[in-house]
Amino acid sequence: MKIETKCLHSGYKPENGGPSQIPIVQSTTYRFDSCDHVADLFDKPVEYMYSRFANPTCDAVEKRIADLEGGVGCMLTSSGQAASLLSILNLCCAGDSFIASSSIYGGTINLFGFTLKKLGIECIWVDVNASYDEICAAIKPNTKCIFGETIANPALTVFDIEKWAKAAHDNFLPLIVDNTFATPILCRPFEWDADIVVHSTTKYMDGHAVQGGGAIVDSGKFDWETAYKKTGKFADMIEPDESYHGLCYKKEFGNAAYIIKARTQLMRDFGCYPAAQSAFYLNLGLETLAVRMERYCRNAEKVAAYFKKSDKIAWVSYPGLEGDKYHDLAKKYLPNGTCGVISIGIKGGRQAAMRFMDALKLASDEVHVADIRTCVLHPASATHRQLTDEQLVAAGIDGGMVRFSCGLENVDDIIADIDLGLAAI
Ligand SMILES: *Cc1c(COP(=O)(O)O)cnc(C)c1O
Repeated sequence: MKIETKCLHSGYKPENGGPSQIPIVQSTTYRFDSCDHVADLFDKPVEYMYSRFANPTCDAVEKRIADLEGGVGCMLTSSGQAASLLSILNLCCAGDSFIASSSIYGGTINLFGFTLKKLGIECIWVDVNASYDEICAAIKPNTKCIFGETIANPALTVFDIEKWAKAAHDNFLPLIVDNTFATPILCRPFEWDADIVVHSTTKYMDGHAVQGGGAIVDSGKFDWETAYKKTGKFADMIEPDESYHGLCYKKEFGNAAYIIKARTQLMRDFGCYPAAQSAFYLNLGLETLAVRMERYCRNAEKVAAYFKKSDKIAWVSYPGLEGDKYHDLAKKYLPNGTCGVISIGIKGGRQAAMRFMDALKLASDEVHVADIRTCVLHPASATHRQLTDEQLVAAGIDGGMVRFSCGLENVDDIIADIDLGLAAI
């Protein structure tokens, strides 16, 4: 099936006379006829037994997302933050390190740089534009994986997946990619050799500002066995799991070892799972994802070009725009479009940016992005409020920066709204 068809048909096939839409299975638990049956499940978890492990509604949506990304398995989480956290904890423990591209979502920077540090896991930051040699040079003996973001929120840098994957694999490490802004419609990182994908489904996948969520997808392609033999790393994938009656993930589950370990160990212990109802809402977003992504991109391309022409705008950052620093990488990895989010710098700095935003009538000022409705955010006074003007410059955010997230309105109405904002500067 092509990707548009997968959005509607992967993961769930109604039985004869069965419901067309994925049913919401609102039950925390499942009934069995014998003690032996339940006991078997505690040795090898292959059926539904408790919601924290799996639920049929979530399962159908997980299969759909796995298929969209081209992976062997997916695990939904209660938020994007939970997905990023578990993707790392499935490989690293206290005393380990991992590498992250410096250009990633602010919430992930806090998680990696501060909270994981308190747990004894070191994040080594490497510039998003680093060369192959620079990436390899940053790897330490205790480094367990590498992490980057396809299109970074809000910097809109494009991650050179193939280069980072090669650096990772030459050192027997898996590459994890946060594919939230691109979605599998615009880029499938596994086709460029990434090993694990994470999502904040809160953004385009849900798309309607209805339900927060996250997902981890396993490509099934990383060779844990060879990496273990060569480096001694990833013993957890190969050796018996003491907390699961000696279960050996690689031996029992083959190339789905990573995602099954994430579920049976980490979801079991951390419990950050979504409700069946949440997965149902997410699926409604997935069904129209391909159609929506196309329109977000077409609207954003026109809006970015419009901003570029205005003498009140100092700079426009949009990888889909000719002349953008990341345009060549975007042509390679995102040939059908680079999402609906644009970052702009208003001349006149903070005051001018706030006047621009306050004059908008259609676009709403909200702490959200990648929504069906056009929305804007002023990072300097909101998400990055605690920083001084000097610190903002260091973080690549100037006072005049506005993050403009194009929705699915008619683009003429979005541009008419922008005119109101520009006139107010
Ligand atoms: C929003 C976001 C997250 C965090 O997701 P939540 O669902 O808000 O927890 C992670 N990565 C990216 C790229 C995001 O935009």
